[in-house]
Amino acid sequence: MELLKVEHVTMQFGGLKAINNLNMSIEKGEIHGLLGPNGSGKTTCFNVISGVYQPTEGDVLLEGKKINGNQKYEINQLGIARTFQHISLFSTMNVLENVIIGQHCRTKAGIFSAMLRTRSDREEEKRVVERAYELLDFVGLTHRAGELACNLPYGEQRLLEIVRALASQPKLIMLDEASAGMNSVEKDNLIRIIRAISAEGITILMIEHDMKLAMSLSDQITVLDHGAKIAEGLPQAIQTNQKVIEAYLGKGGVARAKHAASEKS
Ligand code: ADP
Ligand code: MG
Repeated sequence: MELLKVEHVTMQFGGLKAINNLNMSIEKGEIHGLLGPNGSGKTTCFNVISGVYQPTEGDVLLEGKKINGNQKYEINQLGIARTFQHISLFSTMNVLENVIIGQHCRTKAGIFSAMLRTRSDREEEKRVVERAYELLDFVGLTHRAGELACNLPYGEQRLLEIVRALASQPKLIMLDEASAGMNSVEKDNLIRIIRAISAEGITILMIEHDMKLAMSLSDQITVLDHGAKIAEGLPQAIQTNQKVIEAYLGKGGVARAKHAASEKS
């Protein structure tokens, strides 16, 4: 069953179509890879889906209902959470507080505005903290709970971004280059975490520069180039798709790669 549908979406900035008439469909429960060279429109696609930008044309549908036109927080409440290519934690708050803020859209009381706390507010607050610790435990960051987010090593900040997104209990989580800057041990841990998120029934849309990681995790892949979709399908088919290879290497690059391969043999 289809969870998210991007229908004829164009996102124009001045004279530039960062996304050009994009159609994309994400099935419930799948891990969907969004690939493409730098500047091909991947992050813009996340920005349109998550409500940072209103598309110039087209619609985004979640479970068949149009969501573009809603505010970011409303889209988050509807079940879409994301991480950012450039980490955007609350750096002067501690790790636990960052996760608690992530849950904000699911709590009745409004954690920080509740001046007159009722018994049920206090109980809710207790559950929020418990759940935050569960989530930290899930990615192995419990021991960091009291530390300032900005003092965490880079790889752990990336995990905290994921946890904060998970805290809003999304149906769809969108990861923008989650493995960027991670070493191979951290990447292996990330793969385990992404598989575990998927096993919880959460649908995943991920932008990923590490081809090996993208190919091994994705059920389906969509490839963008200059804002347009140039390929979609199973990882094996994407890997050998001529248009995709050309988009990444450039036409000259393909010729050079073939030349290099023939020199080797
Ligand atoms: P990717 O994530 O695939 O590297 P982006 O979506 O970040 O690519 O960018 C796609 C294109 O859109 C780039 O040329 C970028 O400069 C442009 N772009 C993205 N956001 C804006 C914006 N807010 N204003 C103007 N141009 C933008
Ligand atoms: Mg990007």
